[in-house]
Amino acid sequence: MNDTTRMVDAQRLSLIFNDLRLPAIKRDWPGFTTRADKEAWPAARLLATLAEHEIAERDRRRTERHLLEAHLPPGKTIDSFDFNAVPQISKAQILALCAGDGWLEKGANVIAFGPPGGGKSHLAAAIGLALIENGWRVLFTRTSDLVQKLQVARRELSLESAITKLDKYHLLILDDLAYVSKDQAETSVLFELISARYERRSLLITANQPFGEWGKVFPDPAMTLAAVDRLVHHANILELNVESYRRRAATQRRTGPGRPPGRATINENLRLSAADNQLDESPLPTSISPN
Ligand code: ADP
Ligand code: MG
Repeated sequence: MNDTTRMVDAQRLSLIFNDLRLPAIKRDWPGFTTRADKEAWPAARLLATLAEHEIAERDRRRTERHLLEAHLPPGKTIDSFDFNAVPQISKAQILALCAGDGWLEKGANVIAFGPPGGGKSHLAAAIGLALIENGWRVLFTRTSDLVQKLQVARRELSLESAITKLDKYHLLILDDLAYVSKDQAETSVLFELISARYERRSLLITANQPFGEWGKVFPDPAMTLAAVDRLVHHANILELNVESYRRRAATQRRTGPGRPPGRATINENLRLSAADNQLDESPLPTSISPN
């Protein structure tokens, strides 16, 4: 026990910090006071250091909770996302989305299109993770799982409150819109969710099919139109119109050593195959021009 800790009733102090809900100060104060004594800190500096320590720990715990509740797939980060593989996607634009400011407050949306394996789920999860680190709340869910839960809620006459509960998430990531089955009741809960969040809370939707094929997702054309209309009103559209990343990676492994010169580097290979893919038809109908 050093001088500082001897001077006060440490046990009583522990109880007080409990009462005040200051767990980080409660746990760590002896280290700070010892250092303050040794380095002759002014009292105000010690006070400020303790307060800042508690706040920093509180932020860290909050982020930890938000990460747990978000159900993000593990390991999908911006750092591990290869932007060279998707030349249509601007890294700067994605980093801007990761800040959250300017779109989450007004309930704007992001819609990511592209064929399977193009990196939509990875990018969505990575954006979600970055947003959580920036203090926002996010839920990542397969669209079909959420629709199932909302259907159960509807049967129990609690659909409205189930949708309201999702309001605590600034961003709801609906992964794989296309896999929602065409059942009427099922698809209309999705429509109700989209309508309820319109201009209030954001959605990030990933889909294999372009808007033109969303008729298969909603029960009737009027509802499809209304859903698309609400979604794109304030939306960033991301097109990951590239060949499957996995398939390309596998091809590169197979062609690995001994490839002809000019295709010798991975980056060159990715660039070439991405360029090939750009000749494909855009998955978006030109009639919809997002802002
Ligand atoms: P999608 O959701 O479009 O079907 P995924 O995001 O699931 O595609 O991507 C398939 C796999 O390839 C995942 O393991 C993902 O991490 C990886 N992947 C896809 N695109 C990239 C990329 N540009 N950089 C790094 N990994 C990628
Ligand atoms: Mg996916």
